[in-house]
Amino acid sequence: MARTPLLMGNWKMYKTVAEARAFAEELGQHSQALGTAVDYAICAPFTSLHVLRVMLPAQVKMGAQNVYPEKEGAFTGEISPLMLAEFGTQYVLAGHSERRTLFGESDQMVNHKVRAIVDAGMIPVLCVGENLSQKESGQTQAIVSGQVTQGIAGLSSDAVARAVIAYEPVWAIGSGKTATAEDAETVAREIRSVIAEHVDAAAANAVRILYGGSVKPDNIAGFIQQPNIDGALVGGASLKASSFVEMASAIG
Ligand code: PEP
Repeated sequence: MARTPLLMGNWKMYKTVAEARAFAEELGQHSQALGTAVDYAICAPFTSLHVLRVMLPAQVKMGAQNVYPEKEGAFTGEISPLMLAEFGTQYVLAGHSERRTLFGESDQMVNHKVRAIVDAGMIPVLCVGENLSQKESGQTQAIVSGQVTQGIAGLSSDAVARAVIAYEPVWAIGSGKTATAEDAETVAREIRSVIAEHVDAAAANAVRILYGGSVKPDNIAGFIQQPNIDGALVGGASLKASSFVEMASAIG
């Protein structure tokens, strides 16, 4: 089964509503550059989701960067999966390295979020990746495999097939350094074999795997040409509509 490529932006804690509106307007002016055989999404701060829902070109879907894995309750400051789904959110990030390191999210919490996102009918984007010392001590495969198996624990084969996994080496995020396309492909291939072993071959073949970590218009092509890499999760370079369009042209 052919996997539809996915170009996903992660705005992190950037952009006011006015700035998000300006981005959507500019992207709208170039919407003919967004190929129809590719999926697009922007994971924005909660405060910008409304303006994006109204103004993004129809082929660009909304994503959230976080969610709390309960239906409702006394969880001051949190947003539930139901609230995001009702709002028209299609994708939700879970386990981004900034949440794991700055907010202490464990693999168990990431798994709760992944399952809650699926239960609400949205698509989880499970982020995994090793840090620099883990890379230097040869632990990349062990770390990534552990994060994947714990992140998807309890999901059905169908849910895994619809999910997205983003391989983002922590040392490459926001650093200007990237994994080589070959190294990223090796990890992506390993992720598929871990899923084949722990879930089944159909899920392993269907799940979309993105590379993330300092992706830019001039390096995205090398990643998406790899057979097991289906797109990119892009932070800094997704903040400008012109770069998003350039990356869309490279992917489509
Ligand atoms: C990210 O935020 O997931 C990311 C990969 O950031 P950047 O592209 O800026 O490295």
